[in-house]
Amino acid sequence: MAFDRIIGHDRQRQRLMDAVTQNRLAHGYLFCGPPGVGAEALAIELACAVNCESGPGEPCGTCRHCRRIRALQHPDVHLLVPASSAPPPEGPAGPPSRNRESQGRGNAREERRQGLSALLADDPYAALPLGKNDILSVDDIRSLRRDASVKPYEGRKKVAVIVAADRMNTASANALLKTLEEPPGTLMLILTATRSQRLLPTILSRCQPVSLPRLSEADVKAALTDRYDVQPDEAELFARRSEGRLAEALSAMSEGGLRLRDEAFALLECIHDAPPLRLFEQVESLAASHREEPVVEKILDHLLELYRDLFILSATGDSSILSSPERQVPLRALASGMSVLDVEQGVAAIEEARRGIALNAHVQLALLVLVLRLRLNRGSAGSRETHSRAAPSHTPPAAD
Ligand SMILES: [Zn+2]
Repeated sequence: MAFDRIIGHDRQRQRLMDAVTQNRLAHGYLFCGPPGVGAEALAIELACAVNCESGPGEPCGTCRHCRRIRALQHPDVHLLVPASSAPPPEGPAGPPSRNRESQGRGNAREERRQGLSALLADDPYAALPLGKNDILSVDDIRSLRRDASVKPYEGRKKVAVIVAADRMNTASANALLKTLEEPPGTLMLILTATRSQRLLPTILSRCQPVSLPRLSEADVKAALTDRYDVQPDEAELFARRSEGRLAEALSAMSEGGLRLRDEAFALLECIHDAPPLRLFEQVESLAASHREEPVVEKILDHLLELYRDLFILSATGDSSILSSPERQVPLRALASGMSVLDVEQGVAAIEEARRGIALNAHVQLALLVLVLRLRLNRGSAGSRETHSRAAPSHTPPAAD
């Protein structure tokens, strides 16, 4: 099978390999799919295929081009990742001058970019922890265009991979459009995106789309056991939770991922058992950590999984298909006081909060509304008298 470093997506890899070997590659590609299915990995392998010493064709993986492209250190292959434009924290010497401030911002941004690129150089299936402020600026696109407009130094073809191209603003999208309309020299542009509807139609119409669906659970499980030495039982569990996104499984298995899962469980227990004041404190602390790093959406995803488990337990009592089998004892205790309707209403509330936060709702307020709704639906004797009341259903106002 073509591109044997790639997991799943057999049809898409074959189509690209045919284009490489028959010398009919497009100038622009858009690799689009849910986050974590391997769009960046495929882009890097395609760059290897066109520049491999033994090619163009299946990348050998060992020649100087393949090795340097995979390490993201090849002079003819440029990979651009979005980076935050947020200013660095103020130093002890007081507010910096405007010049120093913009310089510091530039350095911090470049450091962040290098950190994100290093993750992909280390593992092209790594999950990139992109936040709201990580964007592709017009300067990023212009400098990419400058780098890409010269002849290849060593390889056959210049390749520019723009990661998360759906994070361009209007100015950068227009700059990219110019590059797509008149691609300099031998440049091949590969855009990766999770939400193609966020790209300008004029950009979409100039790229050949390659749609990358979710991987099968079996593919994720096999990748985890074969490439990451995960034990089969654990691999099966994380593959089931990942919903076909390998990067999601990898990030969930990391230390930080496990911590977020614990936090979601702590929140669930708090909603059910803690005095209101503790619950409010927990909401405040979650909102505060979200300001440092966008964690709340992840925690809500885990909370949703826990509610799925509660649903399974309250509807069937069957624990063999739980997402968190290691927590089946406390989950069973929580589920015992809940009706299926309680759990369903909880799921609806979490999904609503999740949507609101994705649409820029005020995080702390959205969380507060959510935990109060979940408390009404916790099904314990204490909440029964308020249970018949209609749950508040307004969406918190957008942040300014
Ligand atoms: Zn090679």
